[in-house]
Amino acid sequence: MTPDVLDVVDVLDVLIIGAGPVGLTLAVDLGRRGVRCLLVERKPAPEFLPKMERCNARTMEIFRRMGVADGVRAAGLRADVPMDVFIVLAMNEPPLLHLPYPSVDEARAQIAAVNDGSMPREPYQLISQYTLEPLLKAEAESLPGVSVRYGCAFESLTQDADGVDAVLRPADGAVSRVRARYLVGCDGGGSTVRKQLGIALRGEGDLMRLYQGLYHCPELFDRIPIGPGPGHGRHYHVADSQATFLIMQDSTRHWTLHAVVDRPEDMAVQFERTVGVPVRYEMLYVGEWKQNLLLADAYRSGRVFLAGDAVHLVIPTGGLGMNTGVGDAVDLSWKLAATLSGWGGSGLLDSYEIERRQVGDRNVGASRYASLGRRKWRAQYKPDIRDATLSGKTTRDNLAGVANVEQRKTNEMIGAELGYRYVGSPVVVDEPGGPEHLFREYVPTTWPGARLPHVWLEPGVSVHDRIGDGFTLLLLGGTAADAAGASRAFADARAPFSLLRIDSDAARQVYGYDLILVRPDLHVVWRGNRAPADPVELAAIATGHRRP
Ligand SMILES: Cc1cc2nc3c(=O)[nH]c(=O)nc-3n(C[C@H](O)[C@H](O)[C@H](O)COP(=O)(O)OP(=O)(O)OC[C@H]3O[C@@H](n4cnc5c(N)ncnc54)[C@H](O)[C@@H]3O)c2cc1C
Repeated sequence: MTPDVLDVVDVLDVLIIGAGPVGLTLAVDLGRRGVRCLLVERKPAPEFLPKMERCNARTMEIFRRMGVADGVRAAGLRADVPMDVFIVLAMNEPPLLHLPYPSVDEARAQIAAVNDGSMPREPYQLISQYTLEPLLKAEAESLPGVSVRYGCAFESLTQDADGVDAVLRPADGAVSRVRARYLVGCDGGGSTVRKQLGIALRGEGDLMRLYQGLYHCPELFDRIPIGPGPGHGRHYHVADSQATFLIMQDSTRHWTLHAVVDRPEDMAVQFERTVGVPVRYEMLYVGEWKQNLLLADAYRSGRVFLAGDAVHLVIPTGGLGMNTGVGDAVDLSWKLAATLSGWGGSGLLDSYEIERRQVGDRNVGASRYASLGRRKWRAQYKPDIRDATLSGKTTRDNLAGVANVEQRKTNEMIGAELGYRYVGSPVVVDEPGGPEHLFREYVPTTWPGARLPHVWLEPGVSVHDRIGDGFTLLLLGGTAADAAGASRAFADARAPFSLLRIDSDAARQVYGYDLILVRPDLHVVWRGNRAPADPVELAAIATGHRRP
């Protein structure tokens, strides 16, 4: 291990284990907030291996606030390609079902045209994990307080009242000990950190095993549609008995195929059968993966936190894996920064598990809901599906009809993506009741714990864009409420705070209140139509010094 990284810094603020998308997001956000951190990754370098490919709209809103959204879009799929989903027999035959979903360009136009709070600030972006990770790595490395070390495995930890001691093993050197004030395990499903803490994953493990192949096939995208086959899109599910599906990756030159086959080498035949016509291609990788629906019993033990796949494992159906982990990272980041800079009370870090474990729990449920839908239409498959007979036609029609309802559960998860609200958080002034959490529907709300809905102030400028990195008290509807008490209370608590007057009828209508206090991550702490009765108490709750 080179001395520059570890020996100069005697006690780090935060040690992050694992440079997957979650650890990298955490490193970038902590670095932006001036926290000194070290990110260690077991692999010698980012790998060109396929996993996730869709950042949902909430993740893109978060990336926008981190200043990386433009870079993610530039590296990801071009904005004019639609996200359509097809159920096919093969790529050169008429699809059994076509579910159209907008390209980024189309989604952006839809977002621009609506101002009722029902849309996100940013559209989704398709970007393959192997493109996203190097991009976030470069961003993390550009930040002065962040060190990134690949080829360095975390082995074990001990902790005391003031910090955590970690044993690291670089691939090329002797074991080294690092002390940090906090440690965050972002080390994926097999998390060594979680195991060290004795925290169990609970739920349904190893539900199904599939092989995944990665193919370099530059001509396939340009040849689509192949005869009467489906048009351009993102997912092509093959109606067969092997759960086969083909996914376009961000370059449009790489494709992945998932299927239940006996041997890895069968994945070449499976690709050729799915494409249906001869194409030049190279199979770059084949690996096996398991479907899990698991949630950790705890997200924290003392000064050690867990985030991402280390605490929740979902079936990729619905794309809630990495996206949930990015939400974990940004919830934890500002709370660690606040605690390290002295204004965060103990309730702030306590709230991480309370807020994010309920989202993990709901998203495991959403993923189960989507994958049961997938299983339901696949159960309609019969071996006669290709037959030019009445019974073959009945099988095709029946499968397409069921899929037209059930496949949508995977691709229309807007409620799970945008609608989560932190219930029972110690740093939110909860109101009893609250809207139900719906997987398929997003209903904008400022109910405390929800994320402030996006509202345009002028073309291209959202309320979100006017909110900085601290607490913000929004003043709406021309209110004459005196906010001086709140300003004083947050100043006395030494917490970053600003007032923001918004003269927009649309915003007042969507938000429903004259005063709204939002936190650095845009979640609502409190709302009312008069100045807070006890601003000192409000500041104490928001900063984690007092329970509501
Ligand atoms: C086929 C497939 C498709 C998917 N599609 C989507 C999608 O569209 N959208 C979505 O949101 N999610 C998707 N996912 C899920 C997504 O890939 C994961 O949720 C995501 O990778 C989790 O990120 P992470 O950073 O928590 O963990 P990981 O990506 O697993 O990263 C953990 C990192 O920690 C490192 N590490 C492990 N142990 C140690 C150690 N002891 N010391 C140092 N480093 C260590 C690992 O090498 C790894 O780099 C998909 C998954 C699969 C399998």
